[in-house]
Amino acid sequence: MANSRYDLAVIGSGPGGYVAAIRASQLKMRAAVIERDQPGGVCLNWGCIPSKALLNSAETMETIRGAAREHGIEVGEVKTDFKRVIARSREAADKLSKGVRFLLRKNKVDLLEANATIAGPHTVALAPAEGKPAPQTEAIEAERILIATGSGEKLFPGMTLGNGVMTSKEALIHDRLPQSIVIIGAGAIGLEFGYFYQAFGSKVTIVELVNQMLPGMDAEIAEELRKSFVKRGVTVMLGHGYKSMARKGNGWAVTVDAAGTAKTVEGEAVLVAVGRGPLSGNLGLEKAGVEVERGGFIKIDDSFRTTCQSIYAIGDVVRPPLLAHKASAEGIAAVEIMAGVRQPGFDLTTVPACVYCEPEVATVGLNEAEAKARGIDVKVGRMPFRANGKAVAINQAEGFVKLVASKQYGEVIGCQIIGHHATDMISEVVLGKTLETTTAEIGKTVHPHPTLSEAIMEAALAAEGEAINY
Ligand SMILES: Cc1cc2nc3c(=O)[nH]c(=O)nc-3n(C[C@H](O)[C@H](O)[C@H](O)COP(=O)(O)OP(=O)(O)OC[C@H]3O[C@@H](n4cnc5c(N)ncnc54)[C@H](O)[C@@H]3O)c2cc1C
Repeated sequence: MANSRYDLAVIGSGPGGYVAAIRASQLKMRAAVIERDQPGGVCLNWGCIPSKALLNSAETMETIRGAAREHGIEVGEVKTDFKRVIARSREAADKLSKGVRFLLRKNKVDLLEANATIAGPHTVALAPAEGKPAPQTEAIEAERILIATGSGEKLFPGMTLGNGVMTSKEALIHDRLPQSIVIIGAGAIGLEFGYFYQAFGSKVTIVELVNQMLPGMDAEIAEELRKSFVKRGVTVMLGHGYKSMARKGNGWAVTVDAAGTAKTVEGEAVLVAVGRGPLSGNLGLEKAGVEVERGGFIKIDDSFRTTCQSIYAIGDVVRPPLLAHKASAEGIAAVEIMAGVRQPGFDLTTVPACVYCEPEVATVGLNEAEAKARGIDVKVGRMPFRANGKAVAINQAEGFVKLVASKQYGEVIGCQIIGHHATDMISEVVLGKTLETTTAEIGKTVHPHPTLSEAIMEAALAAEGEAINY
């Protein structure tokens, strides 16, 4: 590090930070990324990637069992090497983390492995990070600083980890399959782990305070998913709030409350999946006058600039939705705005949200109830996968597509999909929504046959009153 003066210093190498730094380098800025853990952030090391590797193992398990039942293929006794299941997921994370190291080097971004704090509007102090050698310098100077420190797991007050009590982070390395598990929280993370453990034969109980799975999501989609989980053998307790837990035998007795009535559910393990909080504490924000708002999210304007002119922030640390692709897109936008090649502003309504259990859930924009609550006159096109040729052929006919459009112009306002590969299919609608397309245009777009994506075309036709196959 011959010269420690940078155009941009990025704190955090998650999908927000590393992507922003590479874009900055493309725009001729001299950039550094400071990371205290492994490159790639939560997404690559403790989130999206290792969890999807586990879900792929779960799906493989379901396929093997389903093959025996449905396809006339005889499978002998199925044995699980759970240590290998976890090891494969770690291998995927490690491979991609190394990939980020390579990409930073290739793009001439300096990776400084240290714990960073803000020491002033243009100064980042570097301290040794756990398990890493001391940094070569105690501080770096930068014309601009970008905070991309992400988010961390939440626990209930008084709860301690260990003895089978886990957040998603511990669950990702817990290589002994629990015979039974209580999952607190039916958001995306809770449901993905619920599906995973159930597929491997654990007895799974999911407890959720709100009266639907995936709180805030379209109620019809959430109910379809609940039915699917129940059909798979998962116990789903909606409208039940966590109260306390106590050790019982080798496991835990968790007390939950439903409208004043206490119940106890038991599990060998407990997974707490009640959301994540921004990592904005202990960053020295006060040294540069960077303010946070409710919940600890860093306050930004529509240029991603904080209350300090030279400091910007993106990703999980600034606002929901806490999603990797949102963090990356914000990182690119922030850097392009800094470089003057893009106008301020960022459209959160085109950010898709996905859940990767089976059936998958994928959404973008407003759902029917949200659109109506905003006084928008809508039409809704529906298409169940049971009427889709490919879905029936591959025995994946659960779920449906819902397309929400304005009644007046047919402009697509939102889409909700529950079904196999929903998360791959949503991109068509995201592109359409970004280009302000209409249901008439999607309906007239020739889709290959047979594909699951034809269900989107049919839902668009249904919104126009022209459905052919349903
Ligand atoms: C189990 C799980 C599954 C998930 N699955 C998905 C999914 O399928 N799809 C999806 O879109 N999202 C998913 N997410 C959410 C996704 O991981 C986050 O939204 C995303 O990682 C946020 O990116 P970020 O760049 O803002 O922050 P992060 O990825 O959190 O990265 C922040 C980085 O900053 C570093 N850092 C923090 N403070 C400092 C400091 N002071 N000094 C130096 N370094 C610091 C951290 O070590 C970390 O590496 C999942 C999350 C979890 C937990």
